[in-house]
Amino acid sequence: MSVENLTSEKLAILGGPKANELESEEIFRWPITTAEDEQAVLEVIRAGSMSAWDISRKFEEEWGEYLGRKFNLSYCNGTMALMTAMFAVGVGRGDEVIVPSITYWASGLQTHLLGATPVFADIDPVTLCIDPRDIERRITPRTRAIVAVHYCGHPAEMDAILEIARKHKLKVIEDCSHAHGGLYKGEMIGTLGDVAGFSMMASKSFAIGEAGMLSTNSREIYERAIAFSHYERTKTDLTLPDLKRVVAADGFVTGLPLGAVKGRINQTCSAMGRVQLKYYPQRMQEIQKAMNRFWDLLEGVPGLRAHRPQRYSGSTMGGWYNPIGHYVAAELGGLPVRKFIDAVQAEGGHCGRGGSFPLHLHPVLNEADIFHDGKPTRIAFTDRDVRQKPGSLPVSEHLAESVLGMPWFKHDWPEEIERYAAAYRKVANSFEQLL
Ligand SMILES: *Cc1c(COP(=O)(O)O)cnc(C)c1O
Repeated sequence: MSVENLTSEKLAILGGPKANELESEEIFRWPITTAEDEQAVLEVIRAGSMSAWDISRKFEEEWGEYLGRKFNLSYCNGTMALMTAMFAVGVGRGDEVIVPSITYWASGLQTHLLGATPVFADIDPVTLCIDPRDIERRITPRTRAIVAVHYCGHPAEMDAILEIARKHKLKVIEDCSHAHGGLYKGEMIGTLGDVAGFSMMASKSFAIGEAGMLSTNSREIYERAIAFSHYERTKTDLTLPDLKRVVAADGFVTGLPLGAVKGRINQTCSAMGRVQLKYYPQRMQEIQKAMNRFWDLLEGVPGLRAHRPQRYSGSTMGGWYNPIGHYVAAELGGLPVRKFIDAVQAEGGHCGRGGSFPLHLHPVLNEADIFHDGKPTRIAFTDRDVRQKPGSLPVSEHLAESVLGMPWFKHDWPEEIERYAAAYRKVANSFEQLL
């Protein structure tokens, strides 16, 4: 059936035929695992070495070679890698850390445990990453660091962010949990800031269980990270005289973590990580081909815009984690996004809500007194009220109305991808039926 015929046809949500009858499980399955992953994990289990770190060190080395960073530390999850990164760049009591409001909570909530607070910045309406223009307005003498999240795989505007950071002597933490293997103007995401944190949990584009990684070129950051959350390596891996200042002792305090937390990864994850890493570049290329094909098929369709960098910019979407698309209701007679999603879903288009809840409006960041300070934790350690009212970050607050959750193809199978694209085109071209 041609596209032209489909557009005149009744929408499936109104009782018409579906544009995509054959929904596929296989094209979405992730991670892709083989007997090689199973064998690697089995060996760890049989050796009983789940809590050792010999295999993890190998994984760290190989990750560092892939990324192009000297120092790499594996973690039990991305949350811990990022909290450690915050400590490692010097975030401490009373400090402020600038974080985009649209992200997973673990880009910023850990500041509370360090006696610091997140200050949220708005996002750019096109990249959906932190808006550099909004960062500068939020800097105070208390600001210590900026967290740049490469949201849903889209590279944040690192040139502008790094320039602001240099000007104000701030540290830049890249949260790369959505963007493993992505490029920003030809450079690997995670090599642009002072330190990068990656989640590698099972639903991410690099997926190996509950796992994370911290990567940096700074020996000082690396050693502060070990001191904070890798107690098992404090005896063997700490060398910097600088650390004496951190631990406020004559020698290194070895054997105890400064952060009172344990960050070690399970070696079953490291073993799987080593296998996954061998195939990741090639699997990521396949995802990029598939996703670019899909968006190319939707080029010019009213109401839809791809969330991806400009062609030939040297920037890419990495493994295209959790793909979203821009939704322009004005081009579809003001059709609310919810109705569009339901209609595409009925066509078999694999569409859902996109984006995430703006963190600055969440009660945990406004009201919760987590540590019995007699006031909300958000302002317990600061000398000013940093809370941000509704209306203060408009792009973040309206995001849910202007994005869609799109299918995340893991294989470049043209015929299947065309069927999904047909579902979107059919609804966009027949939106009047829904008004
Ligand atoms: C998943 C995620 C994290 C946290 O990682 P975990 O491995 O789940 O602890 C941090 N930041 C972002 C943006 C994430 O999506």
